Amino acid sequence: MKTLTTVLRLNEAEALSMALEREGIKSFLPDLFTAQANPFLSTVLGGIRVQVNANDYDKAIQIATEFLKVRQETNTNDAENLPEWKCPNCGEIVDGTFGCCWNCETENRC
Ligand SMILES: [Zn+2]
Repeated sequence: MKTLTTVLRLNEAEALSMALEREGIKSFLPDLFTAQANPFLSTVLGGIRVQVNANDYDKAIQIATEFLKVRQETNTNDAENLPEWKCPNCGEIVDGTFGCCWNCETENRC
């Protein structure tokens, strides 16, 4: 058994596990029960380990690398879809995650 990677979130570990399974690679999440019982503990432990059989490792690492890359790009795109905007009413710079100005409550994209 070899540790392929460690991820911080349980849903990420499960998604990676499923991606590997689609390619016919059985993976193991030895920290799964710990993480389910205490979601914060996995962060303390430094992540949830995703392990595979040693003879699957070379193929699995390619799948995992691709998987994590796509994940990162998706996250980056999400952030870019929400640029800061300047309130047309009071001129405040408002975080892209807010649709309304925090200062004067003028709506931007609502
Ligand atoms: Zn404003």
